Amino acid sequence: MSVSLPMNQPRRWASTVAKAASVAMTLMGGLVLIGWALGIVALVELFPALTAMNPITALLFILLGVGLSQIAWKKPSAAEGKDAARWVLGSIVALMGVLRLVDYAGLLHLHIDQLLFASRVNALETYPQNEIAPNSAVGFVLCGLALSFSDFETRRRFRPAQVSVLVAGVIALFALVGYTYRVLYFYRFGGALPMSLDSAVEFALFCIGFLAARPDRGLMGVITSGTTGGAVARRLLPMAICIPWILGAVLLYGEHSGYYRQELALAIFAALSIVIFAGLIWWNAQLLYLVDMERERADRRMAVQHRATRVLADASGLVEGVEQVLRAICETLGWQVGVLWLRHPGEERLRWAGAWSAPGALVEEFVESGRELSFGRGEAFPGQVWERDRPVWVTQAAWLGEPRRGESAARAGLRSAIGFPVRAGELPGIMEFFATAEETPDPALLEILGGIGSQAGLFIERARAEEQLRRATANLERSNADLQQFAYVASHDLIEPLRMVTSYLQLVTERYDGALDDQGREFIHFAVDGAQRMRALIHDLLDYSRVEVRGASLEAIESEEAFGAALSNLKIAIEESGAEVSHKALPRVCGDNAQLTRVFQNLIGNGLKFRGAERPRIEAGASRSDAHWVFFVRDNGIGIDPKEFERIFVIFQRLHTRREYPGTGMGLAICKRIVERHGGRMWVESTPGKGSTFFFSLRATNEPAPEAPQHPRTSIG
Ligand code: ADP
Repeated sequence: MSVSLPMNQPRRWASTVAKAASVAMTLMGGLVLIGWALGIVALVELFPALTAMNPITALLFILLGVGLSQIAWKKPSAAEGKDAARWVLGSIVALMGVLRLVDYAGLLHLHIDQLLFASRVNALETYPQNEIAPNSAVGFVLCGLALSFSDFETRRRFRPAQVSVLVAGVIALFALVGYTYRVLYFYRFGGALPMSLDSAVEFALFCIGFLAARPDRGLMGVITSGTTGGAVARRLLPMAICIPWILGAVLLYGEHSGYYRQELALAIFAALSIVIFAGLIWWNAQLLYLVDMERERADRRMAVQHRATRVLADASGLVEGVEQVLRAICETLGWQVGVLWLRHPGEERLRWAGAWSAPGALVEEFVESGRELSFGRGEAFPGQVWERDRPVWVTQAAWLGEPRRGESAARAGLRSAIGFPVRAGELPGIMEFFATAEETPDPALLEILGGIGSQAGLFIERARAEEQLRRATANLERSNADLQQFAYVASHDLIEPLRMVTSYLQLVTERYDGALDDQGREFIHFAVDGAQRMRALIHDLLDYSRVEVRGASLEAIESEEAFGAALSNLKIAIEESGAEVSHKALPRVCGDNAQLTRVFQNLIGNGLKFRGAERPRIEAGASRSDAHWVFFVRDNGIGIDPKEFERIFVIFQRLHTRREYPGTGMGLAICKRIVERHGGRMWVESTPGKGSTFFFSLRATNEPAPEAPQHPRTSIG
């Protein structure tokens, strides 16, 4: 399959040359035929006393010209019919060539060159017996075959047709050079008729046109390509053909005219050839040199970009990452020192933030000389880069601007420096690199370094944020642990004295009941009630603080079982309230059985407690959502104002007085904490007066979910 790509400039030109060659060939052949038909000698002989072109030769050139136009105007993939026409044209030309050669070999005497205008052909003065010259016959065989098999290509993209046409071209070149230098042997084989000058021109045209018609294929692919090889070939080939030819001809003409002798002509030819070709070679070598240099630089740029990006992506810590990126840039560029300056929070100065240097005492001394320094905007090299806010490349000694650093740079032999901004959010920095070699500034490299500066900035910002986050998390974990410890110890230690207060108050009631009046008894009742409430509060607080510390490990459990346990704990309350509790099948989840029981118990308990006028109806179930099961516990109680959805999960937060509904305000806080410990979430939906639905999610186990039956499984009440 052939793919046609957009043509570059040389290929467009080549295509025009091919078309022009085909037109010129056909025209020339046509004119010669007209010349024979009308007897116009000037048309059949280019110069008087030279061989005239045989009319059959002219006809064959017309066929070749038409065949060439078919290639020049047609893309390789076009219709088959035209290919057949070209094949026929090529075969006729090649066959005629072969027949003429057979004639020369004396095997047959067909006299094909006498087929047209025989009387006129044989009446010319110069060569009475006008025939197709043997070299022309060979040329026709070669060109005819080339035309027939023009688009045939071997698997290695070799085109035999191009070689065939090149051989014909060389025969034509010999003839043309022979005519220029008047060397008969170059265009005449043995005693046969010489190739006419216009035949030589026609063959040359066909050769050029044929090669140019497929400018992107075979041998021509290299010459017309956009590569350096193509550029060099296009520069050298015309020179290699024209210079010796013209130079030789001019010198020969001078010699013939008697201006100088043969030795001198040859000496001038040799000397001028040396000078011209040496110059040409230098010119082209310079092109190759520049291309190679540019490629080397491009490789270096790519390598810097690639290594720096990789290092920045892999590095974890700020210090380690900075050192690695400085090192990566130094090593890929072959530079000796890299330094990072960063602005510190609350300061308008750049301070030393890290460095990397190649081994060497003087270079290390230079790095050390900067360690204690700081620079304001515009001060010394880092300050200048900061002020200009773009990459800077300097190659003179005076660039450091800070005397001590400048001196140690000179001692270390550092001669080139690059600086570029590192954009790390609010607090930017500067990266500096130094080399002992005097490096030529490379704007494209500077641009890439500018990009690396932005990447490094993002990295520094990220590393700083990560460090802050790490610190904050550690602080938070510590204060959380302290708080937990405090709550645990406090609740634990408070229980004991409280128990004493309650016991002694009870003792007072029992022993001194008679000595107390009604008010005294009431006071003691209040005191006991308060102490009991405090006990409940402390118990709940203790439970809350134990959720994390005392929780069992999370494993696959049947939530159905936890639900059953909660129901049996609430059996009396359910019976007393006459509630109807139902649930759908509950799944297996990853959790702590006791804690899940606690969650169900609190939610069902609240459903019973915050009942409305109707008989309480509580319903539970679960549905799958990705990797989680979302549980719900719905009641038909008093409901909750949406404004309070968040508050009810906070410890000690209640929406009612104890007189209305007893409780500590800890139940939901404990549930939420348990669910969060399981990696889940808890929330509520409710319409005041109509009931509430509490939701919580728990991680599913990897085992398949049980089939949920359509009817309620449990019904108590
Ligand atoms: P407590 O039940 O001890 O008051 P909770 O933490 O369990 O504490 O509940 C906090 C508050 O949220 C309750 O005081 C109540 O106002 C409200 N609440 C909880 N569950 C329900 C419910 N099912 N229906 C209506 N309000 C509720």
